[in-house]
Amino acid sequence: MPFIEIQDLTKQYGPSLYALRSVSATIERGEWVAVMGPSGSGKSTLLNILGCLDSPSEGKVSIEGKGLTLLPPGELARFRAEKVGFIFQQFHLVPYLTVVENVMLAQYFHSLAEEREAAEALRRVGLGDRLHHLPSQLSGGEQQRVCVARALINQPNLILADEPTGNLDEVNEAIVMSLLTDLHREGHTILMVTHDPEIGRMAERRLSLHHGRLTEEISTVAVEEHALADKLLQAVWRKQEDVGSGLVPAEKLPEFVANRATFLLMAQEGSITLEEGKIGFTGKGQRRSDELIRRHRLAERLFYETFALDEDHLHENALKLEPLWTPAVTEKICMFLHHPRTCPHGDPIPRGACCP
Ligand code: ADP
Ligand code: MG
Repeated sequence: MPFIEIQDLTKQYGPSLYALRSVSATIERGEWVAVMGPSGSGKSTLLNILGCLDSPSEGKVSIEGKGLTLLPPGELARFRAEKVGFIFQQFHLVPYLTVVENVMLAQYFHSLAEEREAAEALRRVGLGDRLHHLPSQLSGGEQQRVCVARALINQPNLILADEPTGNLDEVNEAIVMSLLTDLHREGHTILMVTHDPEIGRMAERRLSLHHGRLTEEISTVAVEEHALADKLLQAVWRKQEDVGSGLVPAEKLPEFVANRATFLLMAQEGSITLEEGKIGFTGKGQRRSDELIRRHRLAERLFYETFALDEDHLHENALKLEPLWTPAVTEKICMFLHHPRTCPHGDPIPRGACCP
């Protein structure tokens, strides 16, 4: 039995206005699915129906085998409070309640409000020291983290997120996305609506809505991801060299904005650290990026010395040749060139195991 089963869901607002047309899909327990599509394509309508905030004109939704459309209103409300955690683009925090009270409010519908649990959820999202502040005293990113804590307080099976990073800058977006990554890893099922392809790539699977109709998108190819990750590791390495520090502020790296998802994936698989908007290497990432920079600068050196290519064309020629070099070939070339210490542009070449 699938965790969520959506069958022929239609939502009609007027004689010819359809928000959803005959949408069918299944979602397994523990999956992270992104619902993509342009504005007005029906994403929020679908999410709201799954969260029992809205009802379909036709069709069925069942969660854990339970048909939502058949539940009486009281049971529907209880189901929503116990099983579903919402994260919205607009934070929907109560302005005159403190942060910890806002989280307890969500809990109130479920069980006895317990401040200790609410505080624990807030600590988890890094807001342990802001419990008694009002929402207006928090930044947008911090308010969204309160919403994540609020969504978590009842330990819901299903997390529904509607453009959860829509109002955030890139750094806060990375923080919220890594919280979602942690939740996914712990086994929560996540259905996330976004129009941003970079955010959609974080999910395991992407569904696409166009004018209320659903199509499934194919996932990205792993090989391309690796080549891109290697390119980004080198960009971080060079920026470290540039700013003279091991931690590079994300906003100083032009590649960050266009490749946010890949950076988050790299953090997940343990080659970089991404904390408080600063990018650094782990041991593994340092080794890999040293190797890549070394290979590139040796390739430039080879073109410069052996083929007497002029300086302006070294970089592009090196890029064509170097992907073919295994670590053993790189060592041989380093020896052949007598272990040069700098590239033709004067930048240092990281030392290798063969170097004296
Ligand atoms: P998305 O979240 O993808 O931007 P929505 O699900 O909010 O799209 O809306 C899908 C379509 O349904 C839009 O054309 C929107 O104008 C329409 N719609 C949504 N809610 C209502 C409503 N309450 N009354 C009339 N039309 C609505
Ligand atoms: Mg929407």
